[in-house]
Amino acid sequence: MSAPLMKSVSGIRGIVGETMTPELVTAVGRAFAAFVKGGTVVVGRDSRRTGGAISLGLQSALMLAGCDVVDIGIVPTPTVQLVVEELGAKGGIVISASHNPIEWNAFKLVGPSGLFLNEKEIAKFFALLEADFRYPRWSGTGSLTRYDDSHMLHIKKVCDVIDVKAVKKRKFKVVLDSVNGAGAVITPRLLEELGCTVVPLNCDCTGTFPRGAEPVPENLTMLSEKVREVKADIGFAQDPDADRLAIVDETGRPIGEEYTIALVTEHLLSKQPGRVVINLSTTKAVEAIASRYGAKVKRTKVGEINVADEMRKRRARIGGEGNGGVISPEVHLGRDSLAGIGYVLEMLAARKATVSAAVASLPQYTMKKGKVPVAGKPDTSALFDALRQEFKNETITDIDGLRIDFIRHEKFRDGWVHLRSSNTEPVFRIITEGRDSAHAAQIYSYFAGMIGKKK
Ligand code: MG
Repeated sequence: MSAPLMKSVSGIRGIVGETMTPELVTAVGRAFAAFVKGGTVVVGRDSRRTGGAISLGLQSALMLAGCDVVDIGIVPTPTVQLVVEELGAKGGIVISASHNPIEWNAFKLVGPSGLFLNEKEIAKFFALLEADFRYPRWSGTGSLTRYDDSHMLHIKKVCDVIDVKAVKKRKFKVVLDSVNGAGAVITPRLLEELGCTVVPLNCDCTGTFPRGAEPVPENLTMLSEKVREVKADIGFAQDPDADRLAIVDETGRPIGEEYTIALVTEHLLSKQPGRVVINLSTTKAVEAIASRYGAKVKRTKVGEINVADEMRKRRARIGGEGNGGVISPEVHLGRDSLAGIGYVLEMLAARKATVSAAVASLPQYTMKKGKVPVAGKPDTSALFDALRQEFKNETITDIDGLRIDFIRHEKFRDGWVHLRSSNTEPVFRIITEGRDSAHAAQIYSYFAGMIGKKK
């Protein structure tokens, strides 16, 4: 498989040995040192086999470029963000290609507030990547320290904002599928703190993924079977860097990753109302839930930082992305599967509910998502112009690709479609939602057919 280096607001992703090379590792280290102008930089990584070598090279480049490195080892992406904030560091780098296949690795760049670099900041970083750099002399090189408290810091942050006593009382039996990723060590510890009996599945931290890396229903067969086999109350699935969370109910049915943010939104707004921020591709169930509590919802471009930035501006109560990314400002402004786990268990405890009952209490919509492989960024202007004309009576949003909310269309009404190029993979995404699976499939096949022809 061959693919170009993917550079976007989600960082820099490449295939190891092709575009992810030692030269790139060094260039990223020195450019980031220039970006933060020296000082402390936190480095963490997921469990991928290539992560160790990349981390050593990156740490070396950062130190030779004048930064003091704090190495926190194998940790979830949100843990790096938390440690940057906790230590008052100038920034952080997460070495993780998240849900991309095993041959990929990547750098995600964190600024001093613990948020990822936004569009403006990352553009500046990309310019520095191409610029000349003057290394300091021997006396200006940085130091290396290890910080071993990051797991406990993260667990405490989550436990501080939920009713631990109430969760402990329920004595939940939980199956955890960490896909042998960065959540494999910290998450069982969190669950034990919450009084759960943990049945680990794929919690070996080896970085070889025994299932598809994304926690989407088709990759959760093992988890579903295990939940049924051990009669668990719930199954949790993470992606390799543990920022995304998917849930399997007590009957072994995956509830769909969109319903992670839906459950948490319902729970947090019922505790205390406030604003909600989600991206353009997230389920409209969140809007329906927010309207129960008179809460305003703002939609942003896709990409965690776009949501987090808007949440900061609007002082949002809750936000996130429908791909299982829960962002709670009371923990940290970043997608965090551990925060999601804490809130979902707290909700089940507070409502004395099963997962299936909690999900059944939410507005029901069904999504269909797909992707079409493309080379580079496709030129979509002609296609989008035609769609604007064809669907001129509907609500169209074009801040990120094209989203059409069908408000009048005879067949598609109440549904929507979002068409956009991916930030992280060389693919074009088609995301649709309808009243049920047949409705979503009807909308999907119309647009998939159209894109297929234009490609
Ligand atoms: Mg991820």
